Amino acid sequence: MRAQQSRVTEGPAQFDRYRRQTILREFGVESQQKLAASRAVIVGVGALGCASADLLARAGVGTLTLVDRDVVELTNLQRQCLFDESDAIERRPKAEAAASRLSRVNSSIRIEPHVLDVTSRTLPRLLREAKPDVLIDGTDNAGTRYLLNDAAVRDTIPFVYGGVIGTRGMQMTILPDASPCLRCVFEEPPAPGTMPTCDTTGVLGAAVAIVAGCQAADAIKVLIGRRDLIKPTLLEFDLWSSERRRIDLSSMCNATARRNCPCCGKHSFEFLDGKHDDDAIKLCGQLAVQIGSTGRECDLDRAAERLREFTPKRVSPSLLRVSLAGERAESSGSLELSLFADGRAIVAGTADPARARGVYAKYVGA
Ligand SMILES: [Zn+2]
Repeated sequence: MRAQQSRVTEGPAQFDRYRRQTILREFGVESQQKLAASRAVIVGVGALGCASADLLARAGVGTLTLVDRDVVELTNLQRQCLFDESDAIERRPKAEAAASRLSRVNSSIRIEPHVLDVTSRTLPRLLREAKPDVLIDGTDNAGTRYLLNDAAVRDTIPFVYGGVIGTRGMQMTILPDASPCLRCVFEEPPAPGTMPTCDTTGVLGAAVAIVAGCQAADAIKVLIGRRDLIKPTLLEFDLWSSERRRIDLSSMCNATARRNCPCCGKHSFEFLDGKHDDDAIKLCGQLAVQIGSTGRECDLDRAAERLREFTPKRVSPSLLRVSLAGERAESSGSLELSLFADGRAIVAGTADPARARGVYAKYVGA
């Protein structure tokens, strides 16, 4: 999506709009030119994705690819800075609503929206076509994040991880071959139902802003060729207690220290190879989608605790059922989520596997 070129973006004055950036001692016109020739892919255009896309579009990244499977809802507006009430009323796809907004902010860059469920099947093609110089994490679930980590390490694409929950945030930038990857630090994703999600715990918008700011700054460093400025660190913030933590990962930078990492040490790309795919399938004759077991059991007690605001019903020791008020079903009423102890789930009220997968990620968190 490229808006009609406006006069402010033509001719030798094309970089005028960036003057407050180019006069930075750390930046300069040459860096601006590099940024204009660069490509960034942002996977997930929720809170973090919106904020980093906004910063990178305004900074002048030449091509921004925005990828999201979801639509805008009213509850997004508290923290997802590229959307407005009309987007929520129309339930516009997030990638398209964000691209539309950003093309009005900066008509001199290319913005490519993709309404896409990022899976082991769709990601390789997306990356082949987009050819990103940097990959930015705006996802809301561990499965997609580990998939991105696999792809980044395999294809040697710098990967800027970020995560926010409650009042806390984390950020880490992975330079494949030069710094530890996500699995060096968190070897396995959390089991389904054990981690809080934004939809069960909530999220403070200010925590989003600080993490997205760190992500965008590191992405810009990568894109202007200043990887030397990126420190191998895991940053942690708690905006409520005003605590900051910086975990130094420099001891994990050399290949020997990382040799036992399944991903960057042993090059076993199991997420990219589809070994953890949830295999969402529409159930025959029903308005429901089953999300197949990922091979990891679901702790139903903890899931029930996380979902308590929806008053879940423990149908049996192996089944928890909950009606998700606020998630409109395609027929009438709300979506209903059935969680099985073996890790399977059924989302009733939709026939769309991508939506079912999104709902599962939002409320169960895997
Ligand atoms: Zn690793």
